[in-house]
Amino acid sequence: MVLVKDIELYSMCEHHILPFFGKAHIAYIPNGQVVGLSKIPRVVDAFARRLQVQERFTDQTLNCIEETLKLLGVAVVIEAAHMCMMMRGVQKQNSVTTTSAFTAEFKNVETRNEFLTLLGTKLR
Ligand SMILES: [Zn+2]
Repeated sequence: MVLVKDIELYSMCEHHILPFFGKAHIAYIPNGQVVGLSKIPRVVDAFARRLQVQERFTDQTLNCIEETLKLLGVAVVIEAAHMCMMMRGVQKQNSVTTTSAFTAEFKNVETRNEFLTLLGTKLR
């Protein structure tokens, strides 16, 4: 398993046209080929550059990595703070929204637990 942790992300919420920002954690299981590690943050950046909702951002990142790299499994966790929740409406300054999505091998409990252990205390 390869885990790329704490990938910074800055995007814009499409409902309120306000920023949301945080970190992406992406793990994968290679299928015999070496994947250039810098490709993973590039995928995050590509999908962050458009207006987004966090749930779709998570799924698009997952699907793109899976379809492009032909891996045995991919896991994506995104933790983000949304300015639309901080500045307006409920005005919550410290809440973080976490979304996750998994494919293939990561649906296996043991594999997923290994991923969560590697992430350690990062997940809140
Ligand atoms: Zn919003």
